[in-house]
Amino acid sequence: MKILEEKIKSEGIVLGSDILKVDSFLNHQIDPFLMLQIGKVFAEKFKPNSISKVLTIESSGIAPALMTSLQLQVPMIFARKHESRTLSGNFFSASVYSYTKQTENQIAISKKFIGPKDRVLIIDDFLANGQAVQGLLDIISQAGAVAVGVGIVIEKRFQAGHNLILSKKLPLISLASIDRFENGQVIFCKKEVA
Ligand code: 5GP
Repeated sequence: MKILEEKIKSEGIVLGSDILKVDSFLNHQIDPFLMLQIGKVFAEKFKPNSISKVLTIESSGIAPALMTSLQLQVPMIFARKHESRTLSGNFFSASVYSYTKQTENQIAISKKFIGPKDRVLIIDDFLANGQAVQGLLDIISQAGAVAVGVGIVIEKRFQAGHNLILSKKLPLISLASIDRFENGQVIFCKKEVA
């Protein structure tokens, strides 16, 4: 997605060897116009899949997931990050290792909002090693729902998540695919989406 790549090039900051900071438009301040475009592209790509719910994790997945759900005209659910003590029988839960915080988190979704009739599209801000998506897939499977695809705003192709999702035979759309970081610059993969 050309405008997303341009935004990353002009505003993204590479931290160390493997983290991209994009807090001016995605992870802290949010660019609503860019999010709307992102939602339109995901909705267009996944429309034929008869999606009933869009699913993400709080907090950075919420903006792109909400815009996608608006375009698809279905509800959006965000998994909450709970202390395990507060989980009760009314939740599906999974354990997710946080890439940026380097801690293990419990995520949870109320059983009221996801069930066997649902066809679920997962949306997230970043794909690194795929642990967040794996946690959401775990919950979808506990609910007896079907995962129909994964939409990622920015994937770092040099990490394990991309192949993990493809190994599960799930359609994956990433709007910006980063091949590598080189001298603090972002180098994108050749093939571009939308
Ligand atoms: P994964 O679970 O795929 O290893 O990591 C994905 C999650 O970690 C995303 O939900 C995102 O919040 C965070 N994350 C991973 N890599 C980055 C990064 O380079 N920059 C930012 N801002 N967040 C990241």
